[in-house]
Amino acid sequence: MRVAVIGLGRMGWPIAGHLANPEHGHEVKVFDIAAAASAAWADEHAGAAAGSVADAVGQADVIISSLPADKQMQVVVEEALPHIAAGAIWLDHSTISAAGARRFADELSERGAHFLDAPVSGGVDGARNGSLTVMVGGDEDTFIQVEPTMAAYAGRVTHMGPSGAGQITKMTNQICVVGVAQALAEGLDFAINAGLDPDKVVHVMTQGSSTSWEMENRAAQMIAGEYDFGFSTTLMRKDVGLVLDEASAMNVSLPVTALVAQFLADVHALGGADWDWCSLMERQRRLSSPGDAPRSD
Ligand code: NAD
Repeated sequence: MRVAVIGLGRMGWPIAGHLANPEHGHEVKVFDIAAAASAAWADEHAGAAAGSVADAVGQADVIISSLPADKQMQVVVEEALPHIAAGAIWLDHSTISAAGARRFADELSERGAHFLDAPVSGGVDGARNGSLTVMVGGDEDTFIQVEPTMAAYAGRVTHMGPSGAGQITKMTNQICVVGVAQALAEGLDFAINAGLDPDKVVHVMTQGSSTSWEMENRAAQMIAGEYDFGFSTTLMRKDVGLVLDEASAMNVSLPVTALVAQFLADVHALGGADWDWCSLMERQRRLSSPGDAPRSD
């Protein structure tokens, strides 16, 4: 396959790296708006840097994007459309609105190409070790054609339904994690203020009914007050915004998600826009002990 990868950020860089591994036999061309990133990636991998979106997608059988949000996807799709070959398949791993995904699918379909919304879960570690979970919306026959390509960097790939169904699944994922992370912040802060050893508390709880992905993968950093890694508060606020817009359109009530959206805004105001969003702990800690020196500053 000739594969174009657009967006070489924390997720796109390792995804492109797995695809370029010679054992998969793909011809990979990458593009990022930061030209230095494309050149640096090509220096380290068996693939080429494209000079433009048009150059990246022109010969591609499969186009993979990993961009921040709807706005950047809109720009890239507009630039790419006149150059996409009929029959090409676009696999979008960005988290964007379901309406945006459906619109891009219509636009590509008019050119005889295909678009699948394929947001991911598993974070930067999942992208690096090739174990991402991918939830896919769009035509099922197209999904079957491109499913083996994703095996290079994904552990579980599932077709969820028509266009937009992948994004709606990702939104469901985010609804399910935000309340859990806030509860973990509250629990850890409570234990610390009561004088318990939080590491010991976590050791016990991970064997009990309160365990979670957040507890297993984020409690240590929350206890240490180290947030300079991972999935940024800015990106999580974007995701929660997509969720709340969708829920409002469906008339579905999401009170806990809406509340944590406010708490994430508080973290942003504390200077945490680029911190991993488990920094909900920092907001909690500063409320309980306002005199403490700020962490991660
Ligand atoms: P990132 O900000 O690290 O990377 C985005 C990349 O896109 C950057 O390199 C940027 O230069 C590039 N870009 C922006 N506009 C562009 C354009 N017009 N043309 C070409 N390149 C452009 O973001 P990320 O953490 O890699 O996340 C990418 C997507 O994956 C987001 O939608 C995010 O919500 C989602 N996601 C991220 C994680 C995570 O843990 N980081 C986990 C799951 C899903």
